[in-house]
Amino acid sequence: MQTSPGVRRPIHGCRSESVGVVRSHGAYRLIAVRQIAAGDPLFRIEGEQTQSPSRYSVQIGENLHIDLTGHHSNEEILDRYYWRFMNHSCEPNTHIRGQEVIASHDIKPWADITFNYNTTEFDIAEPFDCHCGCPGCIGTIRGFKYLTADECERLLPLLPPHLSRLLNPCAQTQP
Ligand SMILES: [Zn+2]
Repeated sequence: MQTSPGVRRPIHGCRSESVGVVRSHGAYRLIAVRQIAAGDPLFRIEGEQTQSPSRYSVQIGENLHIDLTGHHSNEEILDRYYWRFMNHSCEPNTHIRGQEVIASHDIKPWADITFNYNTTEFDIAEPFDCHCGCPGCIGTIRGFKYLTADECERLLPLLPPHLSRLLNPCAQTQP
């Protein structure tokens, strides 16, 4: 088992070679365990497809979400469903295409793996206050539905089709 520098916390290995999970202040966080280049796929979000969002689910299409249903052991979640420990950031280092998590820019080892929940979720089941500390932090995270036109515009390069087509109604006729 590796330990992260400085904090010396044990890192739980995951099935992905790119990431691991650390526990701090009672919460798990997903971190990079190697240098990752912009555009690299990190891992695939595994789980069951569902039409009902939950606190942990990730939206991958219109009325389509990936979630964990049923019982999974802690070890199984750390090994296989570690995507649950990706935190939100208003200036994230990944984005999601389908079920693939892609590096948005170069990521250094030990950096938290984050994505902007407003770039996947249309209407977040349990809104929360963001404390990411980024200059562009928008505060309460409620989902894409609640963003201003300017906020949508800024997120455009990160948006998956199920959200980007809402900004461009002409694209709705495309598959
Ligand atoms: Zn924020």
